[in-house]
Amino acid sequence: MNPWIVLCSANQDKLKELRRLMKGLGVRVVSVADLDRPLPKVVENGRTFAENAAKKARIYSRLSDHLTIADDSGLCVRALNGRPGVYSARFAGPGCTYDDNNRKLLSLLEGKPLKSRGATFISTIAVYQKGRKIKIIKGAVDGTITEKAMGRHGFGFDPVFVPKGSRVTFAQMSSAAKNKTSHRGLALREVRKFLESYFKKTAGKHRP
Ligand code: IMP
Repeated sequence: MNPWIVLCSANQDKLKELRRLMKGLGVRVVSVADLDRPLPKVVENGRTFAENAAKKARIYSRLSDHLTIADDSGLCVRALNGRPGVYSARFAGPGCTYDDNNRKLLSLLEGKPLKSRGATFISTIAVYQKGRKIKIIKGAVDGTITEKAMGRHGFGFDPVFVPKGSRVTFAQMSSAAKNKTSHRGLALREVRKFLESYFKKTAGKHRP
């Protein structure tokens, strides 16, 4: 039987992305929601992406014997001293939408020249098994915040972020093009490399 990888998210887009990036590795990628176990509530109250990802992975990895992967990500804007950072999802307040967040970000940066609009997207991925840390991997992409939202693809801050070396926002790219340079794409490709060697080293042992 192929080893399973449990993703600590019920987000179907993230699941699809992980499945695509793990293709050929001989693993079965499932969501933690597919385990058919009551899911404990995890409060993401860490100070860093790594703390949040590790907490999710640690708690959910105790629900099965499988390798378990959690990701925490967000946008750090230099002119805002790294904000919104771990508060990216709720930047404009509880219950806010992606548009609310983008509007707030654009208004905070209003009038700032290009050189003061630098930002970094960060994704930290934690791999755990049975409550034990296996690996923490970080992916980051630098870029700039636009003056207005552009593009319809993607989610979150994609319409206001132009990655370094590009002239268009993440939201103006196909998801395949975004994944080539995105923080999460970079981190997940590292996870794949890590798992390839981990499976070789632990041949047989990681299987539940
Ligand atoms: P999460 O780690 O998937 O919960 O993401 C936290 C928040 O960071 C999201 O709600 C988005 O606002 C932002 N974010 C993380 N990754 C991306 C991305 O790839 N594009 C746009 N926004 C992102």
